[in-house]
Amino acid sequence: MFDHFTLKGEFFATLEALDRAIARRVAASRCSACGGPLHAGNYPRKPRGALIAPEGEAFVVRFSFCCGREGCRRRATPPSLRFLGRRVYLAVVVIVASLAAQAIDVASAQPTGVPRRTTRRWLTWWRGPFLATEVLLAIRARLVGVDVGRIPRSIIERLPGTADEQMRTMLHLLAPLTTGSVLDGSCFLRDIA
Ligand SMILES: [Zn+2]
Repeated sequence: MFDHFTLKGEFFATLEALDRAIARRVAASRCSACGGPLHAGNYPRKPRGALIAPEGEAFVVRFSFCCGREGCRRRATPPSLRFLGRRVYLAVVVIVASLAAQAIDVASAQPTGVPRRTTRRWLTWWRGPFLATEVLLAIRARLVGVDVGRIPRSIIERLPGTADEQMRTMLHLLAPLTTGSVLDGSCFLRDIA
């Protein structure tokens, strides 16, 4: 167990159901480029759960849509609570491995199965590009006292609920970052999760 998160199959089934609900909202909208109808164009993923969330590897469908208008065909991939952009690891793995690297006693921490250089890259992302995102602005407007030098730990520890609830909320907060093709992602995430 990592930081008391369970991250079993049920956890991912819940995330998948939320992703489906978000996808339904996107499906009901129109192509952002031409206003054409959106058709289902899901694609397969092979997410890695490492030692943190092996049961999450069973969830392999990334919901996505394509504009149905000939000559446009623009893709619209909804925000997701499972997949963080094109990263091969599940979003929870990115978070938990980053938390593990931030633990006070890193040496005795449980092995995550994620190569150290990968985790280092993620920490660089949290401490660099992430700081300039609208997502962080929204988080800081909502949570008082987030220490930007200790992200992601300083965010997740301020969220209410059990460890799994904290993680789900964290994934929901980050979800607008998970797609580059649906730019107003946060409006599809409202009141979900
Ligand atoms: Zn279009």
